[in-house]
Amino acid sequence: MIDLRSDTVTRPSDAMRDAARDADVGDDVYGDDPTVNELERRAADLVGTEAALYVPTGTMGNQIAARTHTDRGQEILVDDQAHVVKWELGGLAQLSGLQVRTVDCGERAVPTPEQVRTNLVDEDLHRPGTGLLSLENTHNSRGGIAVPVDHIEAAAETAHEHDVPVHLDGARVFNAAIALDVDPADLVAPVDSVMFCLSKGLGAPVGSMLAGSEEFIARARRTRKLLGGGMRQAGMIAAPGLLALENVERLAADHANAKALADGLNEVSGLSVPTPDTNIVVVDSEGASMTGDEFADRCTEAGVGCGAFGEYTTRFCTNWDVSDEDIDEAVDRIATVVE
Ligand SMILES: *Cc1c(COP(=O)(O)O)cnc(C)c1O
Repeated sequence: MIDLRSDTVTRPSDAMRDAARDADVGDDVYGDDPTVNELERRAADLVGTEAALYVPTGTMGNQIAARTHTDRGQEILVDDQAHVVKWELGGLAQLSGLQVRTVDCGERAVPTPEQVRTNLVDEDLHRPGTGLLSLENTHNSRGGIAVPVDHIEAAAETAHEHDVPVHLDGARVFNAAIALDVDPADLVAPVDSVMFCLSKGLGAPVGSMLAGSEEFIARARRTRKLLGGGMRQAGMIAAPGLLALENVERLAADHANAKALADGLNEVSGLSVPTPDTNIVVVDSEGASMTGDEFADRCTEAGVGCGAFGEYTTRFCTNWDVSDEDIDEAVDRIATVVE
């Protein structure tokens, strides 16, 4: 199986397994785990924030951020295709009592200043007030779009003019930075908090980071405890995370493989594939009269793991465990599916 279902499927390298076994550990709830403390320091440095917090998953990181930034009953403004809306079990409502206000951000993937302005709600006797603007980069459900710094800046500035904080779901923010050839810290500078995953393209077995100001992270640490995310000798899983932070530049190889996959599949009659910005390739199989479900099933049977994405679309996600030879082989196998 050439597994292109996600960049989360990679298995830890031998170096990561060694690092886990040899990690210097302590009780992290007491602040005593030197490996977790180092990971939090290095992660904060990488994205240019004062502090960071190690969390078990990206979902928990986003949910901690939403709960820490807001009061119950407020609104959160977010793109209608955002991960926090589509794939987190309604956690914004369940865990933080938030009312979600969505806007369709289209190809831009983040709201325009005009969309932010017209959808922010001022608190009064009748209206709850907006507590948070949440952005996503790269944008998963819109096909791994890398959102440029000026679009992030424009949305964040408008929210800040209205005293509304901004969170960035940056599960794949380093993919965005590599694709745009910018420092990750520049993509994060306009926002008040960012979550990024160690367990996706960077290759760690477990874990994500939530980064922001000292004051925000101190409060987020309490929210993490509330949600059951206070871990003990977590250095065992943080140690591979430290190695994962060394893998940012390696993401360029996943992007090159994604382009090669898209180019190869565009040669197959019946398939249409937009050029990917990053490591997510979205294939439209309507021209081959196959729904996303049918196409994904047939590709899987032919030995290429992927997932239905929309009615006629299927997602393939390049990752560390897939070589450029595997991509050529994947194109050949997928071609047999539509013949
Ligand atoms: C994967 C992902 C998350 C959640 O990360 P998990 O570690 O799977 O919980 C959040 N946001 C985006 C955009 C993602 O792609």
